[in-house]
Amino acid sequence: VDRAAALVTELAAGQAEEWDERAELPRELIRELGAKGALCADVPESFGGLGLDSQDNGRLIAATGETCSSLRSVMTSQGIAAWAVSRFGSAAQKAEFLPRLTSGETAGVAFSEPAAGSDLAAMSTEIVQDGDTIVVTGSKSWVTGAHYASLLVVFGRFGNGAAMVVVPTDAPGVSVERIPSPLGCRAAGHASVRMDRVRVPAHHLLGGAGMPIMMLVSSPLTHGRISVAWGCVGILRACLREVVRHSSQRVAFGSPLSQHQLVQRHIAELYAGERTATYACEHASLEWDTKKPRYMATAVLAKHVAAEQAARGAASAVQVLASAGARSSHVVARAYRDAKLMEIIEGSSEISQVLLADEAMTVWA
Ligand code: FAD
Repeated sequence: VDRAAALVTELAAGQAEEWDERAELPRELIRELGAKGALCADVPESFGGLGLDSQDNGRLIAATGETCSSLRSVMTSQGIAAWAVSRFGSAAQKAEFLPRLTSGETAGVAFSEPAAGSDLAAMSTEIVQDGDTIVVTGSKSWVTGAHYASLLVVFGRFGNGAAMVVVPTDAPGVSVERIPSPLGCRAAGHASVRMDRVRVPAHHLLGGAGMPIMMLVSSPLTHGRISVAWGCVGILRACLREVVRHSSQRVAFGSPLSQHQLVQRHIAELYAGERTATYACEHASLEWDTKKPRYMATAVLAKHVAAEQAARGAASAVQVLASAGARSSHVVARAYRDAKLMEIIEGSSEISQVLLADEAMTVWA
């Protein structure tokens, strides 16, 4: 994990601001990290991954998030796609797709639709088997990394249930259109994807076809939630670093900002936020690794706590840096915009609260 994190830092440090302004990550960077297995580092080594457990993968994701949330977003999507194949793919599907995801190709994951965001059960994309091909028709929205991806894991209706299918972005009938000027993670390559009677070979249909939609999405979403939560830890660490640096150097009213008690409150809360989010993530990763019975709810808790802390902490960081951080792609300004989006994705704060209320009603009944 240290080698992978050092590689991310070596390739990405100091460049996130420029990438954010250009709204583009260098494709060679994505290819290089992908080819080293670092974009889905929990894939077993036998398939070209780094074989990290969730705990160590989390540390890598946090280090990436501390450097660049756009790159971390691409890593999260790649991780979910690889997990979907690992969890639901047959031996032949794993042997076909996983080595592609650890040799430089990237994948996006398409759940959301214009009329189905929080309410994924309302999705209308159709996946139909037609002899030895699978036909996919539908529209997906906000697919992170689709701009860079050669593969998409697409969720849709399949008979009375749902299914996942691997769709190459260059298949006839696929159109990928970038979302202009996203609020944050501007270089993450979010796109709308239209699929008009796209035909792929039958072996692109992953296992689990026919399961109820919410059951099918739960495991990939849980993987994504843990990843996003660790990404938020990275945002908090980037903010802490800036706040500590700036508040010890900048003098106001004759003493460094860090000596003023109301600034100290910001520093204390940011530190408490980073620690709380880290502990929640470590716990979620431990439960994932040891497959504890309530690990899915623990992942929701980690994502919720980490996203809320990141949004609050980034706002504090902007406040402490004041004019020094008030440039649109400055590290704390990026954190402020990126963190807000973390309260929306992978189950918004409200959806997280609904799920956590259910959990409380079960555990405390
Ligand atoms: P809506 O579902 O319309 O919700 C609007 C508001 O109502 C929210 O505040 C929500 O919390 C609240 N709300 C909705 N239902 C309830 C309820 N029952 N109780 C209380 N409050 C409720 N999708 C993908 O498939 N793949 C991706 O890679 C991906 N990446 C994304 C990246 C970014 C930066 C963003 C912004 C979105 C991304 N999405 C992706 C889409 C994302 O999953 C959805 O935006 C998210 O699920 C919320 O759906 P929505 O935007 O349609 O909001």
